[in-house]
Amino acid sequence: MILILKPNTPTESPEYKQLLAHLANLSGITTRVHTEVGIEQTLTEIHLIGNTKALSTDDMKILPCVEQVVRISEEYRILGRHINDERPSHFDYNGIRFGQDTLNIFAGLCAVDTLEHAELTMRALRDHGQFCTRMGAYKPRTSPYSFQGHGKNCLPYVFDLAGKYNIKVIAMEVTHESHVEEIREALYQTGNATGVMLQIGTRNTQNFELLKIVGRQQDFPVLLKRGFGITLDESLNAAEYLASEGNRRVVFGLRGMKTNMGDPHRNIVDFAHVPVVKRLTRMPVCIDPSHAIGMRTGSPDGLLDIMHATAQGIIAGANMVLVDFHPVPSKALVDGPQALLLKELPLFLEDVRIAREAYEKRVEMAKHYQEAG
Ligand code: PEP
Ligand code: MN
Repeated sequence: MILILKPNTPTESPEYKQLLAHLANLSGITTRVHTEVGIEQTLTEIHLIGNTKALSTDDMKILPCVEQVVRISEEYRILGRHINDERPSHFDYNGIRFGQDTLNIFAGLCAVDTLEHAELTMRALRDHGQFCTRMGAYKPRTSPYSFQGHGKNCLPYVFDLAGKYNIKVIAMEVTHESHVEEIREALYQTGNATGVMLQIGTRNTQNFELLKIVGRQQDFPVLLKRGFGITLDESLNAAEYLASEGNRRVVFGLRGMKTNMGDPHRNIVDFAHVPVVKRLTRMPVCIDPSHAIGMRTGSPDGLLDIMHATAQGIIAGANMVLVDFHPVPSKALVDGPQALLLKELPLFLEDVRIAREAYEKRVEMAKHYQEAG
């Protein structure tokens, strides 16, 4: 059970102390306090752990400072969607809203290779009204002999360029605690020219120690990719690790599942799970059609498989798209075969717009039918 307190409840107030004293007297119940300091308000939740079945929500609602009581009906205590749960399903970061009702496109380089390629990509994004991108600096590679990313060496120019082209958020994978520090430091050196969404890759979804470290910091939101060989429940629990350590600004990423049954694509596309994740949790859901499909194949209708998969995810309500582009894919050091060309950006964005409009129409239609009974 979660008690959501009235916004800005001071922890020194007699009412708050009275509440804690009351809860301390409940037998078989322990409490855990989560505080979220936002720009406009501080929100405090008190989680009651133990035999909460015996407690009545009505009794809890009339306690001092309590605004809302949520009975945990499912797993994923913090990020989950529970009965009478009016907690938000969005967060704001660096001027961009990430929610279950918004859509943000993160087109960009799988891996930063040269300053020139980073600049060409960001310029194209700016020219097409985009405020987000993906730029990998730390790359987990299957072979130890493959290019591992430029790491902290590319951060200064990547962040400077982002400032120059008005890019507000860069999705960037981290595989080690030190990477978070390096990003923080490089951002500081560039006068916080941009923002970063830390990415936990599919190979690290169950790296619990990394999750705890990334969850403990609150400076950066996190995109957690679904593990490619584990259940959805296991991946959602991984997201909950981040939240349980304090960071609730989590986006959940679908990126395809590893199975030879997925042939001819790199992975089998799992975007039918977009609405499932939105039903089970309050996290915005990202799709990564590039790593799911893994190639530039197209169908006789003239659309690339990556565009079809993107449209499938968006028409099902996806909130974020992570997609590989490259100015010269043949020269890309990572994942060139799946990169779209910069000249394809307007086509891709128009396809996204069409799919989003279709999704919105579908939602309207469902509402209309519901209202009509
Ligand atoms: C990536 O987005 O660059 C990446 C490596 O993705 P994933 O972890 O999903 O393979
Ligand atoms: Mn990649």
